[in-house]
Amino acid sequence: MASSYFTHLECGSGCGAGPFDPRERHFLCPSCKLPMLARYDLKAARAWKKESLLDRAPNMWRYRDLMPLLAADAPVTLGEGFTPLIHAQRLGATLGLERLLIKDESLNPTNSFKARGLSAAVSRARALGAETIFLPTAGNAGNAAAAYAAAAGMKCEVFIPKDAKQPFIDECRLYGANVTLVDGLITDAGRVATETAAGKGWYEVSTFREAGRAEGKKTMGYELAEQLNWTLPDWIIYPTGGGTGIVGMWKAFAEMEAIGWLAAGQRPKMVSVQADGCAPIIRAFDNGAETAGTWDNAHTVADGLRVPRAIADFLILRTLRESGGGAVAVSDAELVKDMLLLGSLEGVSAAPEGGAALSAIRHLVAQGRIKPQETVVLFNTGGALKYLDAIR
Ligand SMILES: *Cc1c(COP(=O)(O)O)cnc(C)c1O
Repeated sequence: MASSYFTHLECGSGCGAGPFDPRERHFLCPSCKLPMLARYDLKAARAWKKESLLDRAPNMWRYRDLMPLLAADAPVTLGEGFTPLIHAQRLGATLGLERLLIKDESLNPTNSFKARGLSAAVSRARALGAETIFLPTAGNAGNAAAAYAAAAGMKCEVFIPKDAKQPFIDECRLYGANVTLVDGLITDAGRVATETAAGKGWYEVSTFREAGRAEGKKTMGYELAEQLNWTLPDWIIYPTGGGTGIVGMWKAFAEMEAIGWLAAGQRPKMVSVQADGCAPIIRAFDNGAETAGTWDNAHTVADGLRVPRAIADFLILRTLRESGGGAVAVSDAELVKDMLLLGSLEGVSAAPEGGAALSAIRHLVAQGRIKPQETVVLFNTGGALKYLDAIR
């Protein structure tokens, strides 16, 4: 049997609710309605040695001892994770950076890092006996949910804005999901999803509504450490929508320090990147606010960043500040240009969100915040293929 240190869930807001039983379904905190996080017996996990990774398969479940599955439960996997960390020398040279690294998440199943979160969330849903999962999506999350539901033999109900790019809608259907087109943004899709699901016993896998999505994304933090031989970069530049990755990686760093895999005091500066047509996290960061509220008239070609309200805003903002990082808004014109540069200089298929991360690095270098010799990790969160209309 696999080993697991998963013990319970608790409210991520610090309201004190919990512990909650890991063998039961839990969504938002029953007392404050904010996201719950998975917790582990980190003292006992000090017995888990990183040398044990050497003979494990190169996918994100190599870290399954600290994933939200009990020892008897099997993951639903399509081989997600352990994506390349590329030294982008040509692109780095144009920015005056010696060590610009691209974490290429476009190589995950269904072409984005959403595979990680949905692999974990669907695994937990199946372990808890769910038959149907549902979620609102801007595109990539729906594709990943549909694929993992298919692999698990479960049904999938996807709620997606009517104006989402056609490849996202078609790919949900490819994996056998039932698709509902909704007038409006992902937040409107979320409302329709909740109304439709009421009383049906469907299991919700929306961003931060259950604990699995953030745990899947946290494996990016474990991987970076492993791929950098148990060190961390100076900077992580992350295109942010719902924020599962930024919150998840910060959690991963804390866990690795607690189990003795990383020395304290070497965490990176975390930077959230958003498009200037939808930048609630950037606005809140600049205003010194603890929560972000809702962004009106959200628009950007980077669909994954078109998230006018993030339920875990307070966790994202806390992470950016604790890390000494920052928040950068970039224009659609520059992020599309940088999407093309990632392609033409490095051969990397970048989603507009990946382009946005490059634009943000350019801003931070120009401001003198990123220094030439520092190690910078650019997250290319998805591939270009479903967004090719953006470059026409
Ligand atoms: C969803 C998505 C994002 C935002 O990810 P979060 O972890 O929810 O902030 C960024 N890029 C792409 C390509 C996405 O699909």
